[in-house]
Amino acid sequence: RWAKSHGKNRVELYDIEYDVKLRRLTELEHELRGAIDRDELHLQYQPVVMLPDVRPVGAEALLRWQHPRLGKVGPDEFIPVAEECGMINRLGAWVLHQACHQLSRWLAEGHDVWVSVNVSPRELHAPGYVDQVKDALRAHRVPPQRLVLEVTEHAVSSDVEELIRRLRDLRETGVRIALDDFGAGYSSLGQLRRLPVDILKIDHSLVVKEMVRVVVELGHQFGLEVIAEGIGEQRQMTMVVEAGCKLGQGYLSGWPVPAEHFEARLESATSPARVVPVPEQKRD
Ligand code: C2E
Ligand code: MG
Ligand code: MG
Ligand code: MG
Repeated sequence: RWAKSHGKNRVELYDIEYDVKLRRLTELEHELRGAIDRDELHLQYQPVVMLPDVRPVGAEALLRWQHPRLGKVGPDEFIPVAEECGMINRLGAWVLHQACHQLSRWLAEGHDVWVSVNVSPRELHAPGYVDQVKDALRAHRVPPQRLVLEVTEHAVSSDVEELIRRLRDLRETGVRIALDDFGAGYSSLGQLRRLPVDILKIDHSLVVKEMVRVVVELGHQFGLEVIAEGIGEQRQMTMVVEAGCKLGQGYLSGWPVPAEHFEARLESATSPARVVPVPEQKRD
């Protein structure tokens, strides 16, 4: 009898948790629909730096959502919602446009820099995505090789042949492709070898002793540029540099920051005579 009522309570507790989660997702979905029009979204830029001198050479655009009542909602929470409810294509188009706009301004000011944007598998497979990229490049007069599209390794698990075709079409426009979160998914070396990508972004979970060296060498063997992600401490930085990795990204070399802050960083890097104070970089 106790066991029975206990079991029942457990079920109820589970139901409540489930209910809370479901409500949150429903609310996010509902609020996300108007987020662009209400101007609640913006991009932050996290520097990708040359090692070991830590000079910024590129930036990853990361989407931020600030809701008046819900506060800051992280992309790890709302991107899956957007993917689920089919809104990712609209969000992605907005991100692409914003990032190209910003990039064209930096280039016009003479900065030697590139920008990467994250692309969800669902965007990649949408008909017309390649044209969308071409249009964005043309509209903002961005040389294609200045734009990097990041495709997560998790996208490799589904239809590899189709993915290869898509990436080839994209690459024909002249943009560069980065395989994001490499090492966190389950793609095989055979698959990696066949993927038409230019850059390998090593997932932070692989930035541990020996692993990082092996993956850096593998990437270079395959003729790829390699970026070590999630370098948060000096210890990791040392490891990455010793592994022969030329590019890095992480909190240690720069948090994701608003465009103006990244720009200040670019300016202080190109003109050492003029010291531009970089605003305190806080966690968003
Ligand atoms: P990602 O593409 O792998 O981006 C890197 C994530 O690692 C970012 O989280 C960044 O803030 C975080 N990070 C940077 N340095 C460090 C570090 O030193 N240590 C640790 N532990 N983490 C670090 P964020 O901004 O929360 O984004 C999470 C994910 O959301 C991204 O992972 C990406 O998959 C997705 N995302 C973000 N913006 C977009 C977007 O515009 N479109 C799409 N489709 N996905 C996006
Ligand atoms: Mg990324
Ligand atoms: Mg990543
Ligand atoms: Mg990630």
